This record gives sequence, structure tokens and C-alpha cells, in this order.
Amino acid sequence: MSPSLDDSVRYVKGVGPRRAELLNELGVCTARDLLDHFPFRIDDFSRVLPMGLIIPGSEVTVQGKVVSAGFVHSTRGKAFRVCISDGTGVLYLVWYNMPYMYRSFRPGLSVAASGKVEWRRGSFEIAHPIWRESGTPSEKGPVIPVYHATQGLTSQSLHSIIKEALKVYVPYIRPLIPKSVLDKHGLLSEVQAYKAIHNPDSPDIWEKARRTFAFREILSLQIGLLSMKAEVEKAPSPQAFTRFDKAQAFLRDLPFRLTPAQQRAIQDIGRDLTSGRTMNRLLQGDVGSGKTVVAMWGLLSAVENGWQGALMAPTEVLATQHYKTFSELLGSRARIGFLSGSTRKSDRESTLERLELGEIDILIGTHALLSPEVKWRNLGLVVTDEQHRFGVKERLKLTSGHEILPHMLVVSATPIPRSLALTLYGDLDVSIMDSMPEGRSPVATRCVGRSGRDLAYRALKEELSKGRQAFVVCPLITEGKTDRRAASIVKEELEKGHLKGSVLGLIHGSLSKNEINETMSRFVAGEIQVLVATTVVEVGIDVPNATVMVVEDADSFGLATLHQLRGRVGRGKHPSVCFLIASTDSGLRRLKALEKISDGFEVAEMDLRERGPGQFFGTAQHGVPDTKLAELGVSLDVVSRAREEAKEMLSLVESGFAPPEIRETVERIRRRFGDPLEYGRSR
Ligand code: ADP
Ligand code: MG
Repeated sequence: MSPSLDDSVRYVKGVGPRRAELLNELGVCTARDLLDHFPFRIDDFSRVLPMGLIIPGSEVTVQGKVVSAGFVHSTRGKAFRVCISDGTGVLYLVWYNMPYMYRSFRPGLSVAASGKVEWRRGSFEIAHPIWRESGTPSEKGPVIPVYHATQGLTSQSLHSIIKEALKVYVPYIRPLIPKSVLDKHGLLSEVQAYKAIHNPDSPDIWEKARRTFAFREILSLQIGLLSMKAEVEKAPSPQAFTRFDKAQAFLRDLPFRLTPAQQRAIQDIGRDLTSGRTMNRLLQGDVGSGKTVVAMWGLLSAVENGWQGALMAPTEVLATQHYKTFSELLGSRARIGFLSGSTRKSDRESTLERLELGEIDILIGTHALLSPEVKWRNLGLVVTDEQHRFGVKERLKLTSGHEILPHMLVVSATPIPRSLALTLYGDLDVSIMDSMPEGRSPVATRCVGRSGRDLAYRALKEELSKGRQAFVVCPLITEGKTDRRAASIVKEELEKGHLKGSVLGLIHGSLSKNEINETMSRFVAGEIQVLVATTVVEVGIDVPNATVMVVEDADSFGLATLHQLRGRVGRGKHPSVCFLIASTDSGLRRLKALEKISDGFEVAEMDLRERGPGQFFGTAQHGVPDTKLAELGVSLDVVSRAREEAKEMLSLVESGFAPPEIRETVERIRRRFGDPLEYGRSR
């Protein structure tokens, strides 16, 4: 049998059952996956920096001779330090809690090392560098790709496996994008790009390979989303809404006046609902900007015009919260139902029955709404809250199987920079809510270094003594290779130390849904005082009594994520504070911006400038195969080029004059994009 890119990784030389398992955990199952497993950076041993020129906070590669090596004690445990010198200066390489490292170094050994330099303990340090023995200093070294390592699979071993895969499988790669298109944008052919991203001769060619892949992914995404938009627009839609009396009365009866942003959003939605075409709109606004009221207005309009409405939230806790809010604010204006995975069987049956009979106007719930047993009488509007947790396909699943295509309102609290919203949500129209209700005091943000931890936890303890609650957020689940503080360890530490005697709970992504739900509910109920968590808490949970948040190793998060996190406090009448603990000086400087900026869109723009657009693709989750765009370091320039190219290719296909290779590319992408279009065509 000849090799195929669909071959299991087991067929690749150097991959045994154990490694295959580890690769599968990384989501790498086939030879294709392996080739698409890209390094996130390179170590450029071809460009060595003299130590005398080092600036703290930068990524560098240095080369020198070991002068001395030894152990020191630090707050993070026993640290092994190696001093190296190249004649222009000295620098320390540091490993925490890895005592066996001492075996690798003896004075006089020539080493090359790279990583981020920090100013610590009165000298330059690189913690946990990538390093290797080098020949005579000044010898030109290679460019080595660096992959995210996991336990049991180092970057080096991944690299050698991938090199083997390249040897065998390169001839079987079937390029997706026509060469003419890639040439036009100064990119590599896909085959060249695969070789260059895994085996670069120079940093320049490596960058070009990354651009090529980033371009390919964004182009595919755009073609997929725009095709879907076109299909959706052709589908039969609910008749234009004509009555808004009840919905308007609901607004008049609210205990507050709408913000200008809410008014604009309602106008946008109103225009869609009266147009006779199916609405597909994204409602974007910072946490607390009042998106729920806008969604309620839409749902109530649907009911008034004879349709049923759905509100789908990503978690049980959020769905329950919405159910309460709706019951309170809508009162007798609509008949509301609730459905989740944990709804009791008898309740479930009666809810489903009433829904089918049209005795429920608005059904609120979780993913359970997507179950095929859920039969609507006439679904006219679907609202999904915190959409980035749902893929495009899930959205469409809810609306499929209806005679007409219901209106869709996607609500998201993740501010996406304006320049990216068009690309990321190419299939949606966008309304942005950029003003907050009056009288909101933003969450006070304090950035501190590790020496500020005591202060942060004292403040937290103080709030607990007043009866308030708190969050502690940590970057990783378990202590991995780096020294980032793991949630479970932090929890234990706090229980013995700063927060002795308080009730702590723990949630992170590797707990079951039930365990998370239960802990969340106990926190909401006030039984747990401090919730120690990974970024699971990011979703729109509302605990007005929580007034403090401490984020450990905050500098390992993007600014946008941190902004999102701090929105979990400051939701009640009490003033709130968020402590961001940075692990490095340069990290601390970066975070300082958050002390002054409270507008999510401004934070997002800043994040975009600092870390590039890739991370935003990650949060949007399209149900498109994970595009790893964050890893590819995509630039805004590539984003806009790919977007324009996608539009051009589609209009060529539409006109019927597209060259065959363009037509083929578009068709292959549409197939890869999958069901949403199938579904669109079958109606
Ligand atoms: P989010 O946009 O994060 O979903 P919510 O819709 O949950 O925000 O609103 C947050 C709080 O602000 C709710 O308690 C809501 O009743 C209140 N709220 C909404 N709009 C206004 C307004 N225009 N003026 C004052 N309070 C408002
Ligand atoms: Mg909300």
C-alpha cells in the first residue's frame, strides 16, 4: 500500500505505541496532523547576541563558556544556576526544581542557549532556556524549530519524528491554494512551506512559511464563512415583524434608561427583524454593558409577532441565571421554559410537550436545546450567549430542520478589535455596544510583582472578613515544565498559608462538567468563599458578592483575557479590585496598561498591537479544524490580504468565469467546512 497522509502516526518511523498515544493527546493522529503540527518559534543559533548588548525582557540566543554552576534557594524552590560568559558579559541560566541538571554542566563547557532574559537577583537570567552544547564560540549554528513540548515528548523528539514524516509524505501533499494565488502574495508553495517551517535554513524562510500557512488558514476560513452567509441569505426567512408594542412597553417599564449603545443595538436588530430577511447578527459588548436586556427585547418581539424564541447559554450556571433574570423581568409578558442536561425526566417531558404545542414562548437552556427531541412549534429567533463557546456548526444545528430559517442573534462579551471582527465573523453583521450603564465604577486593577503577593492576599482576606467572596486564577492545571503556578498547588498552599480557615473550592478544565457545576453552584450560593480556578471562570458567571480577584502569573495571559477575567468581579454594589501578579519585570510593565484602561475594545486593540491577531482566532472557535493561527504569528497584513483574496475568488466562481484551479480550491474548502453548507443547500 502506498503511503497516504491519512496514515496513522504509528506508521511514521520513530513512533511506537507510547509515542503514538502522546501524539494523539496533542490531537495528532495522522501523518497530515503531524505535518500540520507547527513549531511556535525558532531558536536562531545562527544569530548570536554578545552578552554585553543584552536588554532584559527580550528573547535572545547567546553563546559562551560555563564559568561556574551551583544551587540557590528561591521562593519557587531550589534553583540551579549556571553562569556563562562570552567575554563581553555574563549571564545565568536557571532551572527550578530540576536538580539533575547539574550533571549536564562543567566549567569550560561551550554552550548556546536561548530564551527570555530577565533581570533577577542582580544579574541577567534565562529561566529554563533551550540550550545545547556548541562548538567553538562564533561558529555559525543552525536554525532550530521549537515545538510545544508535553510530558514525555520533548521539542527535539517531536522535531525528529516530523522530519521522518516529511521524508516519506511530502510527495503526497495535495496543495489547497493555487500557486498563482500564492505567487501573487509573495508566498511559498505549500510543499516548500512544509519543508521550510519544520526545517528552516534561515529565520526569513521560516517566517515566509508561517505566512503561507496563516494565509491558507484565513483564506479557507473566509471562503467558508462567506459561502455560508450566501447560503443562509438564500434560505426562506420569517415574515417581517410588524408589532413591537409589548417589546417597547417592556423597555419603558425597566427600572433604568437604556444606554445609547443599547438603543443603537436595538435599532440594528429592529431593522433586521422588519426586513423580511433572516437576521444573522453578532452583538458584541463588554461585560456588564447590558446585552441581556437587548436580547430580551428581541425575544419578546419574536413572541409578539407569533414566534417562539430560544436562548442558549454555554453552561448550566449561566442558563439558570438567565432563566431567573427572564422570569423576573419579563413576568407575565411571555411563557418561559427551561431545559438542560440535568432537567428531571418528568419535567423534561412536559417541557418538550408544551414547547411543541406552542405553550412555551421562550425556551432557555444549555446545549440540551440542540437535542433532536426538542421540537418547536415555530422557532423564529435564536439567541446564543457567549458564542465563542459554540462553533458555527452548533449554531446552525439549532436552526436546522425548520421550514424557515430563524433569526439569529449571537451575543459575545469577548471584545474583538474592529479590524478583525469582519474577518472572524465574516458570516455575521456586527453591532458593537461600546458604552456602559452610568454609575458603574470600573474594577480597580493593581499590578504587582511576586513580592506583592502578600499584599494581594491580605486584601483578599480582608474582604472575606467583610463577608465578600473572591476568585484566584492560575494559568495551568498541574505543575508542568514551566514554573507557572498550578491551580491545585496554589489552592493547597493558600489553605495552609494566607487563607487558613477559609473555605476554598477548585475548578479547572480537567474536572467533569458535573464537578464544575457543583462547585460553581456552591460558590454562587456562598458556601465556598474563594474559588481557585483556571480560566474556566472566564465565561459570564455573575456573583455580585465576589469583590476580589487575584491572578497568579498574570503576565502569561493576554491583556484581553485578563480584562475578561476581571469582569467576573465588580458586578454588585460593592467596590471591587483585581490584583495581577506578574512573574517578571517586563511582564509587570506590560500589565500596567490595564490599571488605566477599562474599555474592553481598547484593551483588545492594544493586545492586537502587542501580540498580533492570532489569539483572537483562538477565542472565536469556528468549528473549523483548529487553525493554530496564534502559533503561526499571523499579522494583520496577512489577515486583510487573505480576506480580499477570498472575496475575489468567490466572485470569480460566482461569475462562472473562474479558472478550474480556483473553482476546485473553493469547492474543496467548502467540503472541508462541512455540514453548515450541506444544510443550507438541502433546504
Ligand atoms: P452583560 O452585557 O454582561 O450580559 P447584563 O445584561 O447582564 O450585562 O447587565 C448587567 C447588569 O446591568 C444587569 O443587572 C442589568 O439589569 C443592568 N443593566 C442593563 N442595562 C442597564 C442600563 N441601561 N442602566 C442600568 N443598568 C443596566
Ligand atoms: Mg451576559
